[in-house]
Amino acid sequence: MLPKKTNREIDALKTWFLAQCRDLPWRNHPSPYAVWVSEVMLQQTQVAVVIPYFERWMQIFPTIQDLAKADLDAVIKEWEGLGYYSRARNLHQGARYVVENHDGILPHLENQLQKIKGLGPYTIGAILSFAFHQRKAAVDGNVIRVLARYNCITEDITKSPTIKHIHALAQEMLPEIEPWIISEALIELGATVCKRKPKCFECPLRNNCKAFAAGNADKLPFKSSKTAVTQLYRAVAVVSCGDAILIKRGSKGKIMSDLHEFPYFELNSALVDPKALAQQLFKEMQLKADWQESLQEVKHSFTRYRAQLYPHSFTVKEKQPIDGYEWVPKKRIKERAFSSGHKRILGQLSDL
Ligand code: SF4
Repeated sequence: MLPKKTNREIDALKTWFLAQCRDLPWRNHPSPYAVWVSEVMLQQTQVAVVIPYFERWMQIFPTIQDLAKADLDAVIKEWEGLGYYSRARNLHQGARYVVENHDGILPHLENQLQKIKGLGPYTIGAILSFAFHQRKAAVDGNVIRVLARYNCITEDITKSPTIKHIHALAQEMLPEIEPWIISEALIELGATVCKRKPKCFECPLRNNCKAFAAGNADKLPFKSSKTAVTQLYRAVAVVSCGDAILIKRGSKGKIMSDLHEFPYFELNSALVDPKALAQQLFKEMQLKADWQESLQEVKHSFTRYRAQLYPHSFTVKEKQPIDGYEWVPKKRIKERAFSSGHKRILGQLSDL
């Protein structure tokens, strides 16, 4: 039984959520599959970016069976631009597993969900709570932030005992009646009010929030290590031969697995000389390429990298075969899924 004071706070949180929650396409009696897809898309990605992807995805792959039947290339193409493509591959693999082992119906037992590729504790919590209405907390970064502040937890949230403690607090907060509403309300509160810069005066939990009382809400949660970002500089060669362009597909298991890119070379700095790039094309790929023009620099980030791409276009007279690359007709190039940086280079080409 929760202390009375906490129950009042829970009621306030529920009232706030029911009045203020955003109208999102995966809310209001979602199917377990819709929860699964939306929660996977929402990992590392903002709600506003996810909405059109989610809506399109549910039209193209409306059921787990549709997703399982689809080609991986079609799945990756629909994910193009969302980043972290292992999420799409895992969804696809997960759908095939559910069709083979559960007749295409997402199971409602935690130990069965744990066997599905790509489902971690948060996504499992979200499916059990939002789709199956079980009393199960879904603890994402938003909930960690809210509860670290609400309970004034100063321990490092990169350490597993801290996260375990927060999980236990989240679970304890869930009432017996309609627990899924509080589970979702905690996420919503973190996303809209208890943000990096908290808006405590709009918060239904402030009367009992320890960090608010202590005046240190914006200092919490404490996170010891930040992942180091690596800067990359790349010279990119857009090589055409008549009506075809040279591209390569990212190898399985690599960051850009199943995505397409133009040939590129790592640079030590931001300087790139088209002549040197032409020489490199000859040295590494035996291509005799004539430089045509410099394209606009493109910046893009993926996982822990920040890349600056310096694209140049070239032409060659012969479509010689090159190991790991393929010549793709220009009129079909947009059917391929590209990494987001190279897709923006593709967008600069006028003759497609
Ligand atoms: S009172 Fe402020 S710090 Fe506490 S939970 Fe609400 S928004 Fe977060």
